[in-house]
Amino acid sequence: MNAGVTVVGGGIGGLATAYALARGGHQVRVLEQSTRFGEVGAGLQLAPNATRVLAEWGLLDEVIAAGVLPKRIVLRDAVDGGELTHLDLGEDFRRRYGAPYVVVHRSDLHRILHDACQRSGVDLRTGCRVGHVESGGSSAFTYCADGTVHESAVVLGLDGLNSTLRRGIVGDEPIPSGYVAYRGAVPTADVTLDLDLDDVVAWIGPGCHLVQYGLRQREMINQVAVFRSPAFERGAAEWGTPDELDDAFADCCDHVRTSLGSLWRDRRWPMYDRLPADRWVDGRLGLLGDAAHPMLQYLAQGACQAIEDAHVLAAQASQADWPDALHATHRIRGPRTATVQRRARAWGEIWHADGIARALRNELLTGRSPCDYTHIDWFYGR
Ligand SMILES: Cc1cc2nc3c(=O)[nH]c(=O)nc-3n(C[C@H](O)[C@H](O)[C@H](O)COP(=O)(O)OP(=O)(O)OC[C@H]3O[C@@H](n4cnc5c(N)ncnc54)[C@H](O)[C@@H]3O)c2cc1C
Repeated sequence: MNAGVTVVGGGIGGLATAYALARGGHQVRVLEQSTRFGEVGAGLQLAPNATRVLAEWGLLDEVIAAGVLPKRIVLRDAVDGGELTHLDLGEDFRRRYGAPYVVVHRSDLHRILHDACQRSGVDLRTGCRVGHVESGGSSAFTYCADGTVHESAVVLGLDGLNSTLRRGIVGDEPIPSGYVAYRGAVPTADVTLDLDLDDVVAWIGPGCHLVQYGLRQREMINQVAVFRSPAFERGAAEWGTPDELDDAFADCCDHVRTSLGSLWRDRRWPMYDRLPADRWVDGRLGLLGDAAHPMLQYLAQGACQAIEDAHVLAAQASQADWPDALHATHRIRGPRTATVQRRARAWGEIWHADGIARALRNELLTGRSPCDYTHIDWFYGR
């Protein structure tokens, strides 16, 4: 058995990392600040760059059984409702990327990873808020708010966008985009919307968009509505509040405006990212997942990239000592995740275009073939 690993944060990234390392024979402990492991009750899109890894780990069948295999990703103009283009996710897509596109309830994926960790002997602890880490010559010490200290050969910071452990390595702050997301996952039977639950549909409009797809074998509908907050632009401290939501979509077609009625209004997700970081590693402490490369969610890649991180780290850790494995992981993953961070921002600009930019976008999109995969090969491919 190799010397122990401490993973800080038990989100999808933390559990994926813990499982990947436990499969490789490492003794792993996960420290999660919440009193119980869990995820927000909304949907998650998993592209083939992540489902290939889940297949290798033997977890993909369970994820597919809990989720939906959509047939297409469809882009529609949110104002006139017309289809702009679609991406065919059928046999050609699966053959090209060696794995399917899956949409799944976050808590189902989280439970599948949690169960896999338990079966592999990962020590899963809740109620452990980590304050700081000291990285010495041959081991690292993780200090929790309750006074406990854990010694291990390496500490992995998977403590998310507002990472405590990033502060000592990068020292930057999350950057607000001025956009806010509202979510809602509701039983299909409770909704009277005209939706094809075989598709992931994105309605893209000026300063706003709405994404809809089926979950849990189409028994649920997941929705994410995102808009630019006028209050943020005015410099208000409180922004993206529910009173801005309906106004932001006022010019959109009936379907989009009606769909807003099924969103949760008691919780919102102001959207932040950070610039790509030059450093993810300090001695025996390494960052991964959103702690290392938080991105805007327009490419639906944050969790996918965290799963890729876990896969690469496990491979590196099987070949090198910990500090070298951390640096090698950063060398391999840094450029790719930086590209995804930057392109996610650019994709948001394209989705939210107005005026002549919107007209040009629509013209270009309506001309593309549904089987043209060239622009996605770079991140879905091997
Ligand atoms: C609206 C929206 C839609 C999205 N859609 C997609 C999608 O379709 N596909 C996709 O791939 N990605 C998507 N993402 C991105 C994805 O959700 C994140 O990238 C991913 O969840 C990050 O996982 P993580 O484990 O790195 O961080 P997190 O999920 O943030 O987990 C961090 C964990 O660390 C714990 N923690 C924090 N601080 C401490 C501490 N000091 N001590 C101990 N524990 C601590 C937290 O409690 C939490 O459990 C979306 C994001 C948003 C906002």
